[in-house]
Amino acid sequence: MAELSTDVRFIKGIGEQRATALNKLGIISLFDLVTNFPRTYDDRSVIKHISDLVIGETVCVSATVATQPTLSRTRNGKQVVKLRAIDETDTLHVTFFNQTYVKNQLHPGESYVFYGRIGGKLGMPEMINPIFEAENGTRNRTGKIVPIYRLTAGLSQNLLSSSVRQGLAACGDQLPDPLPESVQQKYELAQSRFAYENVHFPKDYEALELARRRLIFEELFVLSCALDRFRREKSVKAGFLFANTDISAFTERLPFKLTGAQSRAIEEILSDMAKPSPMSRLIQGDVGSGKTAVAAASIYAAFKNGYQSAFMAPTEILAEQHFSTLTAFLEPLGVRCVLLTGGLKASEKKKALSFIASGEADAIIGTHALISGDVEYSRLGLVVADEQHRFGVQQRAALSEKGTSPHVLVMSATPIPRTLALILYGDLDVSVLDELPPGRQKVDTYAVGEDMRPRINAFIRKQIEERHQVFIVCPAVEEKNEEGSDELKNVKEYAKELRERVFPDLRIGLVHGKLNSKSKNEVMSEFASRNLDILVATTVIEVGVDVPNATLMVVENADRFGLSQLHQLRGRVGRGKDKAYCVLFNGSGGEKAAERLNAMTKTNDGFKIAEEDLRMRGPGDFFGSRQHGLPEMHIANFATDVSLLKTAQTAANEVLSSDPELRRPENKTLRAYVDRLIEKNAGTMN
Ligand code: ADP
Ligand code: MG
Repeated sequence: MAELSTDVRFIKGIGEQRATALNKLGIISLFDLVTNFPRTYDDRSVIKHISDLVIGETVCVSATVATQPTLSRTRNGKQVVKLRAIDETDTLHVTFFNQTYVKNQLHPGESYVFYGRIGGKLGMPEMINPIFEAENGTRNRTGKIVPIYRLTAGLSQNLLSSSVRQGLAACGDQLPDPLPESVQQKYELAQSRFAYENVHFPKDYEALELARRRLIFEELFVLSCALDRFRREKSVKAGFLFANTDISAFTERLPFKLTGAQSRAIEEILSDMAKPSPMSRLIQGDVGSGKTAVAAASIYAAFKNGYQSAFMAPTEILAEQHFSTLTAFLEPLGVRCVLLTGGLKASEKKKALSFIASGEADAIIGTHALISGDVEYSRLGLVVADEQHRFGVQQRAALSEKGTSPHVLVMSATPIPRTLALILYGDLDVSVLDELPPGRQKVDTYAVGEDMRPRINAFIRKQIEERHQVFIVCPAVEEKNEEGSDELKNVKEYAKELRERVFPDLRIGLVHGKLNSKSKNEVMSEFASRNLDILVATTVIEVGVDVPNATLMVVENADRFGLSQLHQLRGRVGRGKDKAYCVLFNGSGGEKAAERLNAMTKTNDGFKIAEEDLRMRGPGDFFGSRQHGLPEMHIANFATDVSLLKTAQTAANEVLSSDPELRRPENKTLRAYVDRLIEKNAGTMN
């Protein structure tokens, strides 16, 4: 029996060449191999009679080869092997293109199970390029639920699943199992051997479900234990104690009255920062909920206590906008603000850096430049990261390492469903800004097809005649897309067409990601100061940009965007006192897309939209990236496994309450798992 740490190349039946391909998938050890779970499954368990076949379905047919396979050539040079197969009900025509070798693999009089899509016509069913296996041999790929793995060059599904088979055999009864016996019993979880067998090679769907439940639980259980350790380690770190919590000078000077939600969040922040351990708090608030003012209040509190703050924004446009907002709020109170972005001139940058190092700067607002090596802070006490979903967790961590345990405030408009946020950010305190500033109006939203183009163009003109401004957003420039980027409105061409033909009399600006930041900013500020009527843009304007006079947001090919992203875009309008609108063009014209876009017309609530997005698109896109400060999961899914996550958390607490350090013999494997998880994710967990 092999140890789980054994290199896969030494597993019987795998060898050098296959091991090299497996390594490319990150599979190095036997453990990696058996925990490389299928991405999905193909249901090939249904075997049908030929007379019952329906054209268009993909199924298995068990049939006997009735004719000697023939080899011929099509007019365009493809090699074709044809044969007829029969069962007791009817005849199936089987055709292979460019697979001449099958001619010698299929023998008249012998029976095979063919798996493929049924083509042909009524009464003359046909399969093209089916997968087939001898009926009476070992069948791994037909007549059952078949695992589908992620692949890389040099590996096929066949090779990968046979490697996993070898791996499982090599493990013997030593399969990985971090669950203490008592937990497995109490939560009625499958044995690990059963779970590994059936997650890879399910006997049936019921067994697959049991296997998955066990493995998902296990993963979330280990995660919960790791988070617990992490929290305990973090809370012993000493931070700066901001004893002075009087920020009345700030609130009095604000041009508006804080909303109840803003006041609550600020109070929570002040109380966090008045404690000896460093704050880690997430402010979650929909677009327009006023997160910037909350950040400003926190920066002011840091200032009053004699500390610097760093405020990190995801783009230069946003950094500059925040710089001017924060300067307006804070400079009259004596807080010196400095802007630091990659786009600064060398001399400006030098000056900013010396201000920061000397401590003359109290609030430093910038982009990733804030974490670059040449920035030295003099007494960094607070770090604010805006629009957190745009930042890697690494970058956030790098910023907080610039000080000795500064307080950390993360602001996000990513509307993660509430219940989930509380679990996911269990180690982060969360304040939710669930109240918009008064006087905000709902943005009326319309999902339309191409037939509405003339009316929308007239509507755009009308808004501009009323002295308002319009955003038109297109998918990214030169976007590479499998279906061919040709269909996408190329933003440059589109702007040209608008300028030359559609609205030749209007002032039209263009920003996109390929512009350098200076030109980008020029165009943005032209738009902000009303020297442009229409701003054609890619999603560079998605987050944060504030132009209250803009009342109409038109999104081209809106079906290409996620709903949450559309919600962010829509949040760019409706920021002033005037009625605002959002028009979503359904570029594909598809029904599914129309359904998604319709969801946008029904609500302006970012949380509802996020939930809808999750429901319709599935979690893949939504939680696609590692932006939550949590380790990547092998099999668990934070979006769909919420209730199992809760149960796993409860189970973890039970175990930890009697053995917090996991020192007991029955928790030995669990402890090793927790160590490994923490080690692998060092520096990336919140
Ligand atoms: P977001 O949460 O999307 O970052 P901002 O902080 O940009 O929102 O605020 C959006 C707009 O609302 C800004 O113009 C800001 O000045 C304004 N605002 C914020 N708080 C209030 C408030 N309490 N009352 C009125 N307007 C406010
Ligand atoms: Mg903002």
